[in-house]
Amino acid sequence: MKFLLDPLFAEKGIDLEVDNKTFWFFPRISTIICDWPEATTFSLVYKSTNSNFPCHFCLISKTLLADTDLSDVTFCNNENMQEYFYNNAEQDVSLENIPNYFWSLPSINVYSATVPDRMHHLDLGLFHYQIEFTQALLQKQDSSLVNKIDNRLSKIPRFQKF
Ligand SMILES: [Zn+2]
Repeated sequence: MKFLLDPLFAEKGIDLEVDNKTFWFFPRISTIICDWPEATTFSLVYKSTNSNFPCHFCLISKTLLADTDLSDVTFCNNENMQEYFYNNAEQDVSLENIPNYFWSLPSINVYSATVPDRMHHLDLGLFHYQIEFTQALLQKQDSSLVNKIDNRLSKIPRFQKF
C-alpha cells in the first residue's frame, strides 16, 4: 500500500487537468470496495471467522456475531486500534502485528471506509444467506414485509442457460 499510494500523498497536492483546465487538489481515499478477505487485508485483522474478533468494522466477539439485538458495539477506528497495537495488545482484538499504512493517511478511518459490497457477496454465493438474515429481521418487525420480499423475489426472471 505504501509503495502504491505514497506518490499520491507525498506532494502538497496534485495538478489535475479536467476539460482543459488545471485544478490543484489533495487526493483522499473515502471508500475501499472489496470482498471480506480483502477487507481484512486492508484493515490488517485476522483473516479467519474463527478469530476472537472476526469483524474488521467493529470489536464484536465471535460468540456474539449472530446476535441481531446488539446495542453496545465498539467500532474500530485509527485511534483505538493504534492504542491496542502500540500497547502490544493487538492479539486481544485479532489485529495483525503490522502497523497499518492507512493510519498515516489524512482523513481516513480504514475500518469504516472498507466496505464489502453486495456484488462480492453474490459472487461468493452468500445471496441466499443475506435473504434469510433479512427475512428474520423483518419477521420481528412486520411479518407482512416478508411476504412483500417473497413477492418481489418471485418476479426476478430466471437465468436462461445458453
Ligand atoms: Zn462488525
